[in-house]
Amino acid sequence: MKKHNFSAGPCILAPEVLQGAANAVENFAGMDLSLIEISHRDKKFVAVMDEAIALSKELMGLGADYEVLFLQGGASMQFCMVPYNLLKVGGKAGYTVTGTWAKKAAEEAKLFGDVAILGSSADKNFSYIPKGYTVGEELDYFHCTSNNTIFGTQMKDFPTTGTRLVCDMSSDIFSRQLDFTKFDLIYAGAQKNLGPAGATLVAVKKDILGQSGRPIPSMLDYQTHIDGESMFNTPPVFSVYTSLLTLRWMKDQGGLAAMERHNAEKAALLYAEIDRNSLFYGTASKEDRSDMNACFLLHDEAHSEQFNTLWKEAGIVGIAGHRSVGGYRASMYNALPLESVQVLVDVMQHLEKTI
Ligand SMILES: *Cc1c(COP(=O)(O)O)cnc(C)c1O
Repeated sequence: MKKHNFSAGPCILAPEVLQGAANAVENFAGMDLSLIEISHRDKKFVAVMDEAIALSKELMGLGADYEVLFLQGGASMQFCMVPYNLLKVGGKAGYTVTGTWAKKAAEEAKLFGDVAILGSSADKNFSYIPKGYTVGEELDYFHCTSNNTIFGTQMKDFPTTGTRLVCDMSSDIFSRQLDFTKFDLIYAGAQKNLGPAGATLVAVKKDILGQSGRPIPSMLDYQTHIDGESMFNTPPVFSVYTSLLTLRWMKDQGGLAAMERHNAEKAALLYAEIDRNSLFYGTASKEDRSDMNACFLLHDEAHSEQFNTLWKEAGIVGIAGHRSVGGYRASMYNALPLESVQVLVDVMQHLEKTI
């Protein structure tokens, strides 16, 4: 039976993407060789990297003043690369702490200098997005997390700052239209909306680099990877190629406008049911709800066994909540069809009728 994959990450990819990736592992670009056994310097792979970079820029509407990189180490590596490259010696950075990942990013930055926490929602288990803070010009940069994967909140607006704006977009990159030129540095681990784990997409405005005043190890220096065109060392070829297939798929579907429409439709369907159904309630504050990850709980834990049986029988996987929230989390990344959300809604309604 077809599975309805609501996993938080790694997560669902489009069937065409998986098929294309499988084909390339067997026989890449008619070479009678596997994608994963050729040199990354082969011109056929260099073309993959070039197209992945160009399409990423095109989808985000970024011009020649930005570089797009495919790096390794996950989004977690960016937690240290960002301050290493942008936090000046003796300088200060601003962070908002809106969830587990944001907290980790801020902690890492403290190894490099002063960190001001401009807003935090730790007081209410990260169920909302803090607002109304000011981002001062004295800061070297301001770091935020656009979507809080674990707690199901999402920033709908980004502050106007007098400094550089850095954003961890790991779990909602390419899910909606944004003015990406507002950001000086964006990063995202591939495994939530783009491809398999292994690659991390970074978009960086070139003119912000080279000012930190500290020596940076080559692998952690953005400039190294700009100069090496994301091939300073062997890139994660499978992840980059599969990400390219997703980028092409998104473009074919109508780009970010189409992704946004589809994601909003899915989220509206599920949140309407969470709000309507007498057995369930959502954990995130309504205005900050994420279109990607919906967190919800049963009012009465006693129904959980029955609910768990029902959704498993319906072919649903990956909706157990993160241990720090409990309950359920339905992740609705780009490739998840509306039909899967409808199956979950049907199960919730069925449960209500039988109780
Ligand atoms: C998953 C996630 C991360 C961690 O990504 P890795 O690639 O595993 O290091 C960081 N930030 C956010 C918002 C995430 O969702």
